[in-house]
Parts: sequence; C-alpha cells; structure tokens
Amino acid sequence: MKDLSNQTCPVCESPHLEIFFEMLEMPVYCNLLWPEQQAARSCPKGDIKLAFCPSCGFITNVAFDPAKLGYSQDYENSLHYSPRFQEYAQSLATGLVERHNLYDKDIIEIGCGKGDFLISLCELGNNRGIGFDPSYVPRSEHSPMENQVQFIQDFYSDRYQDYQADWIACRHTLEHVPNPADLLNPLRQAIGDRVSTGIFFEVPNALDTFRNLAVWDIIYEHCCYFASTSLTQAFTSCGFEVSNMKEEFGGQFLCIEAIPVNENVNRTHEQRDQVEALSRDIAAFTTKFNAKVETWKQKLVQISQTGQKVVVWGAGSKGVTFLNILKLQDLIEYAVDLNPRKQGMYVAGTGQKIVPPEFMRDYQPDVVIVVNPLYEQEIRHLLAGWDLNPEFICV
Ligand SMILES: [Zn+2]
Repeated sequence: MKDLSNQTCPVCESPHLEIFFEMLEMPVYCNLLWPEQQAARSCPKGDIKLAFCPSCGFITNVAFDPAKLGYSQDYENSLHYSPRFQEYAQSLATGLVERHNLYDKDIIEIGCGKGDFLISLCELGNNRGIGFDPSYVPRSEHSPMENQVQFIQDFYSDRYQDYQADWIACRHTLEHVPNPADLLNPLRQAIGDRVSTGIFFEVPNALDTFRNLAVWDIIYEHCCYFASTSLTQAFTSCGFEVSNMKEEFGGQFLCIEAIPVNENVNRTHEQRDQVEALSRDIAAFTTKFNAKVETWKQKLVQISQTGQKVVVWGAGSKGVTFLNILKLQDLIEYAVDLNPRKQGMYVAGTGQKIVPPEFMRDYQPDVVIVVNPLYEQEIRHLLAGWDLNPEFICV
C-alpha cells in the first residue's frame, strides 16, 4: 500500500502526495561551515521524507521544517572555485547575454549567492544589476563594478516589487522554497504588464537524482525536486509560459526560460507522459538507492581492510551527503575542497577536516573518492602535477 501524506501538492493542488523515500537525521545544512569538529558532528539534523505527486510529478520533502534553516553569511555554497564549474557558468552567461540580447539592460538576480554570475552578466553586456541574497558578503573584487551592480542582503519578496528589470535570473534557489508559488507569484506580480521581461531559472535536475541515481544530491536544504514536467507546471500555474527548457552541466541542472503571460497555459500530453515515466523511476528508487549504498559499504570495508588512505574530494552538498549516508566518521579523515573559505573547517555530521588540495602532497592518499564525476579530470591533472597517482573512484 502506498504511504500517503496528508499534504496537497503545492504545485498542482492534487490532494495526495505519495511518500516514497525516507532518510532520517541528516544535517540540515550541508554548506554551513563548522570551525570545530565536535560542533560539526553534533550539528542540527532533520528528516527527509520525500513525497511524489502522481498528478504533476513534483517531489517534496514533507518533513521539511523551514524554521530549522536560516541562510546567513556563514553559508558557503559557491562552486566558483572549480575551473570546470567556472567554465560552465561563464559559457552560460555568455550564451544568455547573446541569445537574449542583454546589452545595456537592467538585470535582477534572485538568490545571487556570492554575486559572481550577476557580475559576469553585467560585465559581458554592460548591464546594470541588482542581486538579492541574505548570504551575500561584499567582496573587493566586485568593487570595480559597484556603480553598475548593487547587492541587497535579503531574500527577494514582495517588499521589492518596485525593483523592475528587463531580465530576471534565479539559479539554485527555487528548490529551497517549500511552495514554489511563494517565489513565483510575487515575481509575476512585480513584472505586471511588462510582459517583455525574460525569466531564467536553474535548478537541480530531479531526473538525474531519481532516474540516474545521483543520490548524493538529496539534501535537507532542498525541499523541492523538479523534473521538466513539474517545473513547467510550477511556472504555468503562476502566469508564465515556458519558452525553453534544457538540461545542462552533464544533465545535473535543468534550465528554464519563461515569459509572463496573462492567460492560463494547459498541461500537454507530453507532460502527462513525462509524469508517467517519472512515476516508474520513483517506484523503483528506494530499492536502487539501497543497492547503491550497500555496494559502497562493501567497497569501503574492502578498502579499510587493506589499510589504504582514502580522501573524499569535494566538501559541498554531494560530499557531505555521501559521508553522512555512509556514516563515514572514522574511515575517512579528510575531505578536500578548492574553496578557501571551507578549508580548515569540518564536515557537518561526520566531522572530516576540510583541507586544500596542496595537503595531498604530504598526505599521499591511496584512494580519492570524487563526488562529482565532472571534476575528475581537473583533479587527476592537479594530482599528477605532484606525481600523485592514487586510485580514483567516482560516487
Ligand atoms: Zn502536483
């Protein structure tokens, strides 16, 4: 029998959400920095109970409690330090500026994080920008652009409806909002009759997580998981029409472009077929997840028996989730991260010390666990430069 939650789907208002997966006592913040190992290990934890909407395909954590989270300046989720990610963000910005003719325009970015993407958009097209993010920290390298780009250290909300723009971007933010309409409706209202305003959102791709088993992307901070069908539904039900939908970054992200409209957009046959296909992935997910975790446990037992030194490369969401799902407190001592703001800190939940890549020259690991396969080449290259040739395993 299916486990039904008593919540209605916030996206399509279908009365039943089916709970299909549970992961209890996970760190509520993967990206909060912990300067003490003990504090990291006893960090606040929360339950993940994922429910699927069989009507629109939306996936949400029904055990999510927003009161457990508050994003501050200690929140560090910038991926900007990886060359592979920088290259992606730069080519994304260039493509958007060219395709949408973003020259000498006003741009808003909602959830701009450390502001790097907004700065790029404004530099590339000589645009003016306003970025909203409570975790934004003023940075000296942004000062050459201070006449063009303004940052507001707050969540975007209806308080800011007077800020108008020709184009609005929002990356990796919607999945943190329990009800997508709470962000999309005020946005649509702010746009009003300026229907030429372009919208661009980027979110993690639920198909990658639930079909391709990129399971380390399931984190407490993400209360929503979108596939193209549910993302489309979320936008159309708030007065937008989807003009473009694309998988990016090796299929890990989903990019949507939309325009404001005044009439309702109906669900298509194609969307219904996509929900059907996704519901089959969801039905098989828990079994596949357990098998994947079991395989990893056996692999790690083998490694520990040979006494090899293992590090995890990447102390972002994926690395933190991998360590916590496998409860790796003792076997792995260090997690490597390129982001200098993370180095010297400790991993939430399992307490690994986060070290810079250079630390590997002395430590000489036998095995490197790479949490994002897209970064494997840059890591191999870096270590080979120090005559290190450990075994690489991608999670
Ligand atoms: Zn729904």
